[in-house]
Amino acid sequence: MNITMVDLKTQYHRIKNEIDREVLGVIESTQFIGGPKVNAFRENLEQYLGIKHVIPCANGTDALQIAMMALGLKPGDEVIVPAFTYVATAEVIGLLGLTPVMTDVDPDTFNIRADHIEAAITPRTKAVVPVHLFGQSADMEPIMAVAKKHNLFVIEDNAQAIGADYTFSDGTRKKSGVTGHFGCTSFFPSKNLGCYGDGGALMTNDDELAATARMIANHGQSRLYYHDKIGVNSRLDAIQAAVLDVKLKYLDEYCAARGRVAAYYDRAFSSGNNLKTPARQPNSTHVFHQYTLQVLDGRRDDLKAYLAEQGIPAMIYYPVPLYKQEAFREYWKGGELAATEQLCRSVVSLPIHTEMTDEILEKICGAVLAFFR
Ligand SMILES: *Cc1c(COP(=O)(O)O)cnc(C)c1O
Repeated sequence: MNITMVDLKTQYHRIKNEIDREVLGVIESTQFIGGPKVNAFRENLEQYLGIKHVIPCANGTDALQIAMMALGLKPGDEVIVPAFTYVATAEVIGLLGLTPVMTDVDPDTFNIRADHIEAAITPRTKAVVPVHLFGQSADMEPIMAVAKKHNLFVIEDNAQAIGADYTFSDGTRKKSGVTGHFGCTSFFPSKNLGCYGDGGALMTNDDELAATARMIANHGQSRLYYHDKIGVNSRLDAIQAAVLDVKLKYLDEYCAARGRVAAYYDRAFSSGNNLKTPARQPNSTHVFHQYTLQVLDGRRDDLKAYLAEQGIPAMIYYPVPLYKQEAFREYWKGGELAATEQLCRSVVSLPIHTEMTDEILEKICGAVLAFFR
């Protein structure tokens, strides 16, 4: 039994005929950049998400950068981000000369919170990037209220939660990533909607912001060889769009498969008192990009080593608070964020993907429980 964090191979083999036909079709057409496949995927994703504009680009990090450029953020502007996240979120902020301001996260859901955001606002704050970590949306309704009150832009980092649903207090249900001024996502192979290389996209309901982002992603070009802004070169390849257009049809199925794995883990680990199973964010569904436990007795690293001995991989997302990363030291004014520190010490993510069998789940759960016995 070969246990892996993700199993893209089995997933590919189940849809191989469709994928091969579409990819070979792109090669035969020689329309490698732009063209009908990219447009078809863009339109299908717009429809799936219920949003006016999807702007495909080269990767999720670019999507974040293009969003910040399109919003006209300037050096010195402060952008609030969670301290417990993947580095890409804060990296583009630093790269553009903006100042990342890191806030703590909720110790149960791992997500940024509206009250923490509000406490971090200064006269220089221009934007906030809620990250929908591990597969569930941050609580967008109060976050949007704080943003509106303080006139901030909201850029949702939806790289890990595409397919999740968020329900507002009036009952309106929206896809994760479509509520802020921009949503950004990644199609990195291991993401819930992953291609066979790099890919990403921005989403927005604002016509003007969409036009600006589209222009920035294409060398700031308004019409051929006329450049209105300094832009970047960030495109989604047609081959990747072809793969994504096939896989989009299966996204809900993939999310449900991940949900079944999570439910299995929940049942196995809910009775012990050494482990805390991942809490569900009220108002959001969970698409389980990761299944992340908290080890409460301080033996997280021992558990990971114990599992590795038995051929069971596990990963630490994320081991270091953003402000303690060497690259981000200049933004750290001292002090520690309690929940972020505790999570970096206690979290461990177990294998979760669309192809997990009961046999694999039994082995993983058995090993984890045996460790604590
Ligand atoms: C994967 C990821 C990104 C970056 O996406 P890439 O396509 O790898 O550039 C950004 N933010 C989060 C939270 C991610 O998980």
